[in-house]
Amino acid sequence: MNVANGNAIVVVVLSGDVAGELFDELLEQAPAKVASTMVAAMSDLDLRMAAILTRWVPRGATHRIDTASLVSIRQNGHVPNLDLELMLTDLETLVNIESPSRDVQALAVSAAALASLIEQRLGGTAEIIDSPVGPHVRWSGGGEPKVLVLGHHDTVFPFGSVAARPFKVVEGRAMGPGVFDMKAGIVQAIHGLAQLPDLSGVEILFSADEETGSHDSRGLIVQRALACGAALVLEPSADGGALKTARKGTGTFELLIHGRASHAGLEPEKGVNALIEAAHQVLAVSTLGDTTTGTTVTPTLASAGTADNVVPALATLTIDVRVEAPGEKERIEAAMAGLHPHLSESRLELRGGINRPPMPVSSSAWLFPLAVQVARDLGLGEIAGVAVGGGSDGNFTAANGVATLDGLGAVGGGAHADHEYVLVATMPDRARLLGGIVAALQAR
Ligand SMILES: [Zn+2]
Repeated sequence: MNVANGNAIVVVVLSGDVAGELFDELLEQAPAKVASTMVAAMSDLDLRMAAILTRWVPRGATHRIDTASLVSIRQNGHVPNLDLELMLTDLETLVNIESPSRDVQALAVSAAALASLIEQRLGGTAEIIDSPVGPHVRWSGGGEPKVLVLGHHDTVFPFGSVAARPFKVVEGRAMGPGVFDMKAGIVQAIHGLAQLPDLSGVEILFSADEETGSHDSRGLIVQRALACGAALVLEPSADGGALKTARKGTGTFELLIHGRASHAGLEPEKGVNALIEAAHQVLAVSTLGDTTTGTTVTPTLASAGTADNVVPALATLTIDVRVEAPGEKERIEAAMAGLHPHLSESRLELRGGINRPPMPVSSSAWLFPLAVQVARDLGLGEIAGVAVGGGSDGNFTAANGVATLDGLGAVGGGAHADHEYVLVATMPDRARLLGGIVAALQAR
């Protein structure tokens, strides 16, 4: 490693034992005014930082960094050195402000806190967009929109969950309602973006109704995604930090089965048993799945009847549907609409549908390789990509032709369960990854 004349440093990215010695040499030779930044970045021999610095301070020649730029970056608060303690402080703040879907009052408090956090870390002004299901939060770095960082601030946990299990960190795991899905993803994104010297072209949108199907925010999400041309979705990662490159389309149908009540002992023959009809319908819908196309049709909930001696007049079935192949959404919708009663005099009523269209693997066709390359450049190792069954707002952006990559949020487990957790040690690298992908998209 060489230190050039004047105030310029030549950084060579190295690995192995030799790196330690050469770093010591560099730090000895480095001008005092930049030493603190370099030491902060490299004291743990974090060679990845060198790669980041070269990315963020392009000076024409590869690997060449002008120290004057480093100093000004530091003064602007953009030192490329993530502060995990601060990330955890922000995460604690967000987790302990409850934000259950549909709780408009709680979501308003959450949106205000989120807007304030964004402004604190990224500057500018965050817009709070009121809606009947609670406010969404939007922020723009100005300039021509190039990348949408997309998330949601609602959680599946009812108000009061924090009182029972407030934010805590135990043995390297951050825990608390919504920590994994997706408050840690939000914090990582904000801190990852805060490392970038320039945020032009970057938009952030955090919706308030993702967990209930994004019925209000969908239009806004699609509009901003189309304007930006690329969407990075902060849903939790798959196992081991894998990104989500494809998602099945998802839907929920409710089948109401109408019969006629009668006394089960005195004159059962005068009734029309909705429960027996429901049994026929369960078997009928269970044949609609198709393993060759990845379509699943799963009856999940059922109820019928009012009393133990009454022929049931009403039964309800809930059916979970997942589709991924083209045409399967239409096939299933037609098949569900075409269900017919088995018992004469019973009647079927169908509600619901396939809300989220599939996010095909083609939607991440160039974004996923880009993310893999960014991860390599930053020394974060190899990143896997997987197709998953669950839906997200990425389904909407992808269905509208916007390049979409999902699963860029937290690494952990237990989404939607009380034991959900985030691996704290992974948070800075995930922030770097997000920041790096955004930087690459800004440059396109
Ligand atoms: Zn989520």
